[in-house]
Amino acid sequence: MNEETIQTITKLLESPKRIAIVGHKNPDGDAIGASLGLYHFLKGRGHNTKVVMPNDFPGFLKWLPGCDDVITYDKDTQEVRETIQKAEIIFTMDFNALNRTGDLTELLEKATVDFVMIDHHPQPDDYAVVTYSDITMSSTSQMVYHFIEALNGVVELSPEIATNLYAGIMTDTGSFRFQATTATTHNVIAKLMESGADNSEIHQNIYDTNSPDKLKLLGVALKNLEILPEYRTAYISISQEELDDNKFRKGDTEGFVNYALSIKGIVFAAIFIENKQEGITKISLRSNGSFSVNDFARNHFNGGGHINAAGGRSDKSLELTITDFISILPNYKNALINAS
Ligand code: 5GP
Ligand code: MN
Repeated sequence: MNEETIQTITKLLESPKRIAIVGHKNPDGDAIGASLGLYHFLKGRGHNTKVVMPNDFPGFLKWLPGCDDVITYDKDTQEVRETIQKAEIIFTMDFNALNRTGDLTELLEKATVDFVMIDHHPQPDDYAVVTYSDITMSSTSQMVYHFIEALNGVVELSPEIATNLYAGIMTDTGSFRFQATTATTHNVIAKLMESGADNSEIHQNIYDTNSPDKLKLLGVALKNLEILPEYRTAYISISQEELDDNKFRKGDTEGFVNYALSIKGIVFAAIFIENKQEGITKISLRSNGSFSVNDFARNHFNGGGHINAAGGRSDKSLELTITDFISILPNYKNALINAS
């Protein structure tokens, strides 16, 4: 964080404030971990703080300290409205454009209070008085650590804060293996462990709580795997019927796309998931090396993300979305063949 940002933030937080902390739609481990970590920190400093999400988050995160205090717009609509309308400061976490909050977008666009963005996605929109945006960061949760550090708050790190930030960093770095994981990330992790984050317990709580239905769904996904060697691409599809047959619950398909990317020689992987309720096909994209799935998602599927992890959607059926996807690939043949 630069000096000017630190000064602006320090001034904003000088006296106790009503603060809303908002994450993106379909919040993941980083959005929830960063928001709850910041929540405990700001509460500790005497601010009246609430965490607001557009919709529910996966069950494997429903043990994080403070997660029961999170309110969601789809369920606690009136309370969320009041929280946003009465807030004096709104922190937006782990996203770079207000429309990433789904149904909450309009409410946030109308709010005239001071926004603070903490995020690591490229091309941030300009809506905040403080835009703490850094695409070199492993995760928004790591940025919350640096934010706390800049406010001389490291001594205030509690096991609750440390556990949330650890979980956010761990989930967004694929357990510390993605390229954005740096020596600084590991130094932060060390501090979080010293402050009471139990690495083994956090890992177990998040990754070793699979339901048998989830593993059966993974079996279906792997059966549906298709490989296009000429484009060094692999993709998976899951239909609504397959989701229903395996009692799909939010978060069950998290990480499936990584199996497609793990195939030797593959640099581009996609998963297409039918969502009949919303009338869309949800798309997750991953790459290894220089091929930008952020650009691919922005250009063709109404989405975005990072260079190696992005998402988007199509209003077409599962089959037609995949047909579209395959028809686009020749335009990227050179980029895919030369990706390294
Ligand atoms: P996932 O594929 O795990 O849902 O998301 C991977 C990355 O892409 C995350 O950083 C997420 O924020 C971003 N992302 C996922 N879906 C969308 C989308 O519909 N629009 C945009 N702009 N980003 C997305
Ligand atoms: Mn993130």
